[in-house]
Amino acid sequence: MRLTMINKQIFFSTLFFLLFIGNSFAQKKQNFVIVIDAGHGGKDSGAKGVVENEKDIVLDVSLQVGKLIEKKYKDVKVVYTRTTDVFLELYERASIANKNHANLFISIHCNSAKNNSAYGSETYVMGMRRMQDNIEVSQRENNVILLEDNQERYQRFNPNDPEAVIAFEIMHSAYQGQSIRFAQLVENEFVKNGRSSRGVKQNIFHVLRENASPSVLIELGFINNYDEGTYLASSKGKEEMSEAILKAFDVYKKEYDSKSGIGEEVVEEKPKEVEKPVPGKTFKIQFLVSKNKYSASAAQLKGLTGVEIVQTGDTYKYYYGNTNMASERDELLELVKRKGFKDAFVAEFTNNEKLQGKQNYRIQFLTSNQKYRDKDQKFAGLKNVLRIKDGKLYKYFHGSEKTYDAAQNTLKQVQDKGFKNAFVVTFDGEKIIE
Ligand SMILES: [Zn+2]
Repeated sequence: MRLTMINKQIFFSTLFFLLFIGNSFAQKKQNFVIVIDAGHGGKDSGAKGVVENEKDIVLDVSLQVGKLIEKKYKDVKVVYTRTTDVFLELYERASIANKNHANLFISIHCNSAKNNSAYGSETYVMGMRRMQDNIEVSQRENNVILLEDNQERYQRFNPNDPEAVIAFEIMHSAYQGQSIRFAQLVENEFVKNGRSSRGVKQNIFHVLRENASPSVLIELGFINNYDEGTYLASSKGKEEMSEAILKAFDVYKKEYDSKSGIGEEVVEEKPKEVEKPVPGKTFKIQFLVSKNKYSASAAQLKGLTGVEIVQTGDTYKYYYGNTNMASERDELLELVKRKGFKDAFVAEFTNNEKLQGKQNYRIQFLTSNQKYRDKDQKFAGLKNVLRIKDGKLYKYFHGSEKTYDAAQNTLKQVQDKGFKNAFVVTFDGEKIIE
C-alpha cells in the first residue's frame, strides 16, 4: 500500500508539531461539546401526560439545560438535536452527536406506565443486560422507529446475534464508565432536589447505540402519574429538573477537566527550524495485526483515533498517523508505544506506487446475510458493487484502485455515504488476496 496525500487533519497536526515541538503534552483549553437531545417531537408526541405530553416537556427542559450550561461555561459548546417541535429519526440524533464530536450526549425523556402509581426518575446507559422491568421503557422509546421511513437501518443490529453483541460491547466499553458516572450524578442531583430516583439502569436504546461518546438517556419521571405529571409540566418543575442536570454536569465537567489536564500552564516555545519532508515517502505507525476487525472506538485501539485498517488475506493491519516528516514519524512512534503497543514500528510507503499485475484495492462497506443486487437502495447510490459470498455472509465492495492514495479517496467517499466502518481490502482481480 502506498500513500501520499496529507489530509487536513495530518496537515494541522504537523503544524501543531512544528509550532510546539517539545511541548506536545501541555494542553490548550479545549472546547467540550455537549449534545442535548430532546426526545420525540413532531408527529411523535412520546408519552401522554396528565397535563402536558412528553415531547413538549422534554423540549423545554432540554433548552433550559442548554441555556444554563452556555451561560456558565464559555468553553462548552452546546448542540441541540432539536429546538422546535419537529420529528427526527433516531439515527439522525446520533449522527448529530458524532458529527459534532460530542464529549457527552444526553437524551431527555419522560416515562409512563400502565400503572398510574409508578413514579420517580431513572437514567439509562446502553447495555446488553436487559432487566425484565426495563423492557417496557426501551420498547416505548424505540417504538418511534415504526414512524420512520428506513426501519431496516435498525434491524441490522440483532441483540440475539453473539457477534453483534460482542462488536457492540467493544464499541461501548470505551464509554461505559463515563456514561455510568454521569448517569449516577444526574440521579444523585434529582434526589438532592427531593425527587424519587429509581436508579441507573442499562438497556438497548437505538438513540444511544451509534454514539461515539459517553451517552445517557434520562427519564425525568412518570407523566401519567398525577403528581409527577403535574410537577414536570409546571415551570417550577422544569426549572428544578434543569438545575439538577446542570449540577450533575458541573461535577462531571470538573472531573473531565482534571483528567485531561486542563488548567495546566501552557508554555509556548519558539518554533524549531522548519524541517523538510522526506521526498517520495510516507510514514505510518503499524501497531497491530489481528484476525479481528475492531471498530474505531474499540477498547483494543487504546484510544488511538483516525486509525487506518487494511485487510490482506484474513488479517487486518492497523496504522496510526501519516507523515512525511522524520521528526513527526518518531514522535508518532513514541506516542503509539506509550499507549501500550510496545511492538509498534514505522511502516514506510513509497508515494503513488502502483500495485502489481491485476492487484487492486477495493472498499468493503457492507457485510450482511442478505443478498442484494446492483443498485439496491442499501448501497446508497454506490455503483459497480462487487458481491462476494463468504460462508453464510455476503461481503460488498466498491471501487477498484491501483494506488493506496486513490483507495483512500474512495474510502472517504464511501464513508461520507454513511458507511462509517468501511475499510480497504487488497484484491487480485476480483479475488481477495489470501
Ligand atoms: Zn421518550
